[in-house]
Amino acid sequence: MSGHHDVLVIGAGAAGLMCAVTAARRGRRVLVIEHANKVGKKILMSGGGRCNFTNTGTTPANYLSANPHFCKSALARYTPWHFIEMVERHGIAYHEKELGQLFCDESSRLIVRMLLDECARAGVEVRTHCSVERVEQPDAGGFRLQTTQGRFAAPALVVACGGLSIPSMGASGFGYELARQFGHPVLPTRAGLVPLTLSGKHHERLEGLSGVALPVTARCNGRDFSNSMLVTHRGVSGPAILQISSYWQPGDELRLDLLPGSDALETLRQLQAARPAAGLGTVLAELLPRRFAQRLCEAWLAHLQPGRPMRQFSAPQLREVAALLADWPLVASGTEGYRTAEVTLGGVDTDSVSSTTMQSRTVPGLYFIGEVLDVTGWLGGYNFQWAWASAHAAGTAV
Ligand SMILES: Cc1cc2nc3c(=O)[nH]c(=O)nc-3n(C[C@H](O)[C@H](O)[C@H](O)COP(=O)(O)OP(=O)(O)OC[C@H]3O[C@@H](n4cnc5c(N)ncnc54)[C@H](O)[C@@H]3O)c2cc1C
Repeated sequence: MSGHHDVLVIGAGAAGLMCAVTAARRGRRVLVIEHANKVGKKILMSGGGRCNFTNTGTTPANYLSANPHFCKSALARYTPWHFIEMVERHGIAYHEKELGQLFCDESSRLIVRMLLDECARAGVEVRTHCSVERVEQPDAGGFRLQTTQGRFAAPALVVACGGLSIPSMGASGFGYELARQFGHPVLPTRAGLVPLTLSGKHHERLEGLSGVALPVTARCNGRDFSNSMLVTHRGVSGPAILQISSYWQPGDELRLDLLPGSDALETLRQLQAARPAAGLGTVLAELLPRRFAQRLCEAWLAHLQPGRPMRQFSAPQLREVAALLADWPLVASGTEGYRTAEVTLGGVDTDSVSSTTMQSRTVPGLYFIGEVLDVTGWLGGYNFQWAWASAHAAGTAV
């Protein structure tokens, strides 16, 4: 058996490192076990290399979970301002991009360095390249881990293995396997914050438009997100699509307002009055990206002869165009999956976990934190805020 530890943490990502720091500051001897070659890989690649480390507007309403109340306690006790205080203490410059999203001015590497500095200062031991082969509960209590670097034991075990997204970065289903091993229900998982794919005629209709971006309001299952959409080679992406993807499942209807914030019919009526000689296609190309407007005319509005001047459009015809602009149907066939998803929806059922300590309700000493739990944030720094907050809750309790 190597060393004496009070707490073993599996996974040196956002949640694992934060939990380790919090527990070690309380005098706990903590070992963090990471199977990848370095820690915090998702932090490094996050936010386009600048890590959107929190969102100042975080509320429980920004999370998806079978139990929407579960995240409340931890989020209330460790707020974005607590994390910002740490960032400022380490002299890391940051800025707000939009909607409360805070990014590093320079690099995500500074966030990883900050967490590792805090770990070092608090005496946390971190082992990379270390794979857990077996987890046992000896009769004497606690947990015993058989790993590729020897055996470790401690009275508390924190599962911080994250979700399934980006397997090339070290993501694994190990956290879910451990949960099942200890009798914890795991809710079905699927990719979230992920580009949507189109197929057949729905794909053909947007073919050749890849790279075109426009502001939209995307709606699905009673939710809507206003932000930009980007047409890709395989379908659609961009913040509005990533956000709505977490609420979309195959077969669900998805609608887009292509003129968010304005009344499409009113806009068309005004343009008809102001520029009666202009063609509908020309007018649409001023409201939308030109290539996108052209394609709308060819693939959706051809029957209305969009080359005709605006004055020739009857009231019902204008209403038809307005309805298309305000409620454009997007038929997605699937998502790009875990390969590109930012998060995993579903996971360890929160019903069997304490919302104040993240400790299992059935296996004393076992904790689940971060993305492995069935708590998934919106795009915009909410997922890291959940990682920090849930980790802090567990780190305070172990
Ligand atoms: C491309 C991308 C960009 C993102 N950008 C943002 C952003 O800007 N803002 C935001 O809030 N969220 C962002 N996210 C989401 C965010 O990264 C995650 O929600 C967050 O990292 C979850 O933290 P975690 O500690 O639970 O899991 P992770 O950070 O994924 O950490 C889990 C750790 O466990 C390790 N591990 C897994 N299995 C084992 C095992 N068997 N043994 C040992 N170790 C194991 C992994 O290698 C990993 O280091 C992004 C995600 C991706 C993929």
